[in-house]
Amino acid sequence: MNNIVLIGLPGSGKTTLGWELARRLGRPFVDTDEWITRSAGTTVERLFAGYGEPFFRRVEAEAIGRAVGVESAVIATGGGAVLDADNRQALRNNGLVLFLDRPPAAIAADIEIAHRPLLKAGVERLYALDKSRRQLYKTCAHVVTDNSGPPRETLAALEMAALTWKATGFAVIGDPIGHSLSPRLHAAAFAAQGRAETYTAIHVPRGRLGEFVQAARQSGLRGFNATIPHKQDLLPLLDEVDREAALCGAVNTVTLRNGQLRGYNTDMEGLAMALQAAGTGYRDRRVVLLGTGGAATGIACKAALDGAAHLTVLGRRPEQAAAIRTALAEWSECEVSIGDMSSSSLTAAASRADLLINATPMGMQGIPDEFPTLSFVAALPAHALVCDLIYNPPCTALLREAAKRGLSTVNGLPMLMHQGLLAQQHFLDAALDLQRLYPAVEAAVKSTLTQEKGEAV
Ligand code: NAP
Repeated sequence: MNNIVLIGLPGSGKTTLGWELARRLGRPFVDTDEWITRSAGTTVERLFAGYGEPFFRRVEAEAIGRAVGVESAVIATGGGAVLDADNRQALRNNGLVLFLDRPPAAIAADIEIAHRPLLKAGVERLYALDKSRRQLYKTCAHVVTDNSGPPRETLAALEMAALTWKATGFAVIGDPIGHSLSPRLHAAAFAAQGRAETYTAIHVPRGRLGEFVQAARQSGLRGFNATIPHKQDLLPLLDEVDREAALCGAVNTVTLRNGQLRGYNTDMEGLAMALQAAGTGYRDRRVVLLGTGGAATGIACKAALDGAAHLTVLGRRPEQAAAIRTALAEWSECEVSIGDMSSSSLTAAASRADLLINATPMGMQGIPDEFPTLSFVAALPAHALVCDLIYNPPCTALLREAAKRGLSTVNGLPMLMHQGLLAQQHFLDAALDLQRLYPAVEAAVKSTLTQEKGEAV
């Protein structure tokens, strides 16, 4: 069966959220307490008072047996449904079980205790129930859903878990995710190989990564990519992390095999391949890196791993640049200088650069920020390569200025392409003919960018 089952303490929101979830997903809604009330012709409270808890639990077990037989329903169970091992097994075997984890204090603040038979003794009873049942809820649930915040956030997380659980093949996760080019890129790569694979975009809200990973483990997914803001937060949630990804502190590709999640970072190798294609690498080069965010941290790491002669990291928050230097010093002997983004710092660093990489969003479509001045470009040696991670627009003001001065340039598109194809190699656990696939995939991505933005790439 295909059910989505909500379990949790009395008052944790199973009925209210379950009803709304069913409406959103277009599924029937079953509330086992409501079924019992209707068939007994009396309230749960009166059944408890008149016949005692053991009798009620027998009636409840019978209701659960019937509820799990409803095709593709959202089922809200009574708070004590998990006390019975047969109930727990029936629920788990027939769908995705979600534990709505609402702290007792929050429940006490928003429910009317009088109508909950087990809570009549007072709020202390809620804490006692939480203590005695928490472990049962956890062992019965496939996913623990935090319901300590506003209902709309919990609903988004429940929907995300339901969507993830039904997903097959591959996916990309992020927040926001609507404009990701990854679905187009991977679809084109699969099509070019004649593979009938699926690749979907899943909106995983910030702060809900743990719930996504739990649902993914129960799903038909075989792998996924991660984008902002999840690349760093994924690391502790995985079973294994590739050495480069661990050193970079970020994962953008995860494979799911035999229940094991393994993380990789193909962004960094993708950029290295893009630079190689443009005629340079990190080895023995003096690299100047602008920005200290996720991408810059990974690039600094990869440059050090690949034998850069010297690295200068410039950021508007020099303390972040210092953190990158400290992290690198733990395992690398690469010499690292740091500084701010003032015109004088940029010019001094540029004058000694073989390779300058912009890893800030300055110049990106939809971002108002631009470099206050590009005068530092004039200081770059004639052999220097200028790389901008931005691919939309295809030619940023930085790249235009560099090209005007006769310097070689590369935008972020080749990095995007390479990281995607490398990710697909991990997904399929196969060596792909990257040379052959690249043009087909590039054409698809460029046409998507052109359609979306109405401009040539
Ligand atoms: P991030 O983690 O948000 O880091 C952005 C960095 O840029 C931070 O250091 C930030 O400084 C700095 N920054 C932002 N606005 C700035 C401004 N006005 N002046 C100076 N510094 C500024 O983002 P990310 O993931 O590293 O991505 C960075 C860029 O690379 C983005 O444009 C992204 O689209 C691009 N990217 C491209 C690819 C590709 O495949 N081509 C892959 C990954 C990333 P604060 O920390 O002080 O905010």
